[in-house]
Amino acid sequence: MSTRDRLRIAMQKSGRLTEPALELLNRCGLSFRQSRDKLFCFGEGEPVDLLLVRDDDIPGLIAQGVCDLGIVGRNVLSEFSLGAGPEADLAEWRQLGFGRCRLSIAVPQEMAYEQPAQLAGRRIATSYPGLLGQWLRTQGIDAGVVTLAGSVEIAPRLGTADAICDLVQSGGTLVANQLRETDIVLESEAVLAGPRNLPSDERGDMIDLLFKRLDGVMQVRESRLLLLQASRGALDAVTRLLPGGPQPTLLPVAGQPDQFMLQALCAGEVSWRQLEEIKKAGAREMFVLPVEKMLA
Ligand code: ATP
Ligand code: ZN
Repeated sequence: MSTRDRLRIAMQKSGRLTEPALELLNRCGLSFRQSRDKLFCFGEGEPVDLLLVRDDDIPGLIAQGVCDLGIVGRNVLSEFSLGAGPEADLAEWRQLGFGRCRLSIAVPQEMAYEQPAQLAGRRIATSYPGLLGQWLRTQGIDAGVVTLAGSVEIAPRLGTADAICDLVQSGGTLVANQLRETDIVLESEAVLAGPRNLPSDERGDMIDLLFKRLDGVMQVRESRLLLLQASRGALDAVTRLLPGGPQPTLLPVAGQPDQFMLQALCAGEVSWRQLEEIKKAGAREMFVLPVEKMLA
């Protein structure tokens, strides 16, 4: 085991996950001295540094203990875990809500495809042989897996495969290659990955702190604070219409014994329609505010 006392997080050096990952870490109060062209980003303030690498290398770096945590797509993490065996016991500690995509089967548009069983005996090109192999086994299908490092989507046109298993977000790439998405093998998003057994030293404490801040950031991302006034008689009707969240807080209004100010944390957006309904139930002076930080 290394004797590092600073936490080291691996993230993608340049790609789809880079900006959102940095933004998320910034929102957790972590900032880094800008040296993005380099391998290493030194953390200012908290003892947390970044290692900027190709996303495919992230699970291995965690498994080797070179990094404590990593921000990586579930697709990459799961593929690594399937291939690495039990000694590399990695866990998905947090879901981060960006980099959403799916690993899907796609077939040529002209193929009359109805069910996965039709893939039996065919060749499927993919960069995810582990995940595809696992899906084929659970479906009870015996198909050939053609492993390609990239440009998977052109394999059917080149005649090197009959179908593909690749990442899809909007589906635009598939259409451009005359392919049709048929089955989802894995739903993916960026995750915070780490060893299943986290360190119990100061780095472990820092990881705990980071998890707590992350949970706060993820929670407030969607949250809104709703403020309104209502009379005692309208409180029940108004409270019933509040969109989710914990019990609202009631504050008396000075000089108006029958009036209350109500404050409620709402789990998601509050729409105009919802506000109008709440107003109809007797609320006045309504405000919907974004929440910047939250520490439970
Ligand atoms: P590198 O290996 O150089 O780090 P890359 O080309 O493998 O980069 P990106 O294309 O930046 O990686 O994708 C990184 C991750 O973004 C993917 O592993 C996946 O989790 C996620 N992602 C989200 N949408 C898509 C998409 N449409 N295509 C590919 N990946 C996507
Ligand atoms: Zn990659």
